[in-house]
Amino acid sequence: MTELETKIRAEAERLLSEHLVDVVVAFRKEDAPLHPQPAFFTQVDELQDLVYNGLCANNLANYLTRHPQETRIGMVVRGCENRSVNALVVEKQHTRENLVLIGIPCEGILDWRHIVALTGENVLSVEENGESVCVHTRENTFAFSRVELLHPSCQRCLHPNPISADVLLGELKPEGDPELMRLRIEALENLTLEERNAWFRHEAERCIRCYACREACPMCYCTECFVDHTEPRWSESGVTPAGMQAWHIVRAFHQTGRCTSCGACERACPMDIQMTYLTDKLNLDMIDAYQFEVGMDTTTQPPFATLTLDDKNRFITRGK
Ligand code: SF4
Ligand code: SF4
Ligand code: SF4
Repeated sequence: MTELETKIRAEAERLLSEHLVDVVVAFRKEDAPLHPQPAFFTQVDELQDLVYNGLCANNLANYLTRHPQETRIGMVVRGCENRSVNALVVEKQHTRENLVLIGIPCEGILDWRHIVALTGENVLSVEENGESVCVHTRENTFAFSRVELLHPSCQRCLHPNPISADVLLGELKPEGDPELMRLRIEALENLTLEERNAWFRHEAERCIRCYACREACPMCYCTECFVDHTEPRWSESGVTPAGMQAWHIVRAFHQTGRCTSCGACERACPMDIQMTYLTDKLNLDMIDAYQFEVGMDTTTQPPFATLTLDDKNRFITRGK
């Protein structure tokens, strides 16, 4: 057990044994070494299964909306998860008073697909030691630097530190470089219209519409998604090119001013579709147009969710 895991377990034990929360949302070890799973701990003796490491790939804020508002939840949060929680509080999906956030300054998520590509399928264990990572397979041991295994979203992460945790475990990390995200998006923007169209079609049309991206995203909590709605039908439901393009465009716009660039959607995608190009572009537009980043507090509404009678787009308030 690592020192950080010991601290998380101790904090979870304190919260449960002092009846300060009803459930602790964290990660549990699994037989598959590359895939620790999100878990709900309600008893102290369950905490022996709690783990925390670079392979914990889900955004745990996704599980906030699975509990009623009155449930007192303790949750392990990294920078992006803390911001997702804040965004959900702004959208009135849970009450901040009923949350205890156990903050972890984040070293980034390791990309398990990349590990398998480099080492093969037979991974037995992964050892992390600061900036180095050792992967033991049935046949071999491989040594990597952490940075070469990081999931791309974490390589360009802007805010690795939890910003409003109730308890902070670990040393704060340096903030990320906003230029990394900007350069990536500019590279796409600098393509010709035809090239961008070809790129988008290549990404969208590989989609098998499994909706794993939607299920992994904390901000996709509608009880009925527009793609499942039948009367009226908002988008073609089959795997036609038009239907798949509509899904990706509408999903991205639905996230405008709400996405924390956590990358959970991409990690969940079985087709390796790079959908964060669209959401990161919209995130940058939010910064440039409104100086807004989601989840930096628990009160500020995203720009597209706010309306005042002074809005210059008078069509919204016409007749008032
Ligand atoms: S996006 Fe940032 S805070 Fe979130 S898991 Fe990656 S490095 Fe950590
Ligand atoms: S759209 Fe993707 S990157 Fe954005 S918050 Fe949802 S899961 Fe995270
Ligand atoms: S997870 Fe990937 S394949 Fe599934 S709906 Fe989302 S983009 Fe399409």
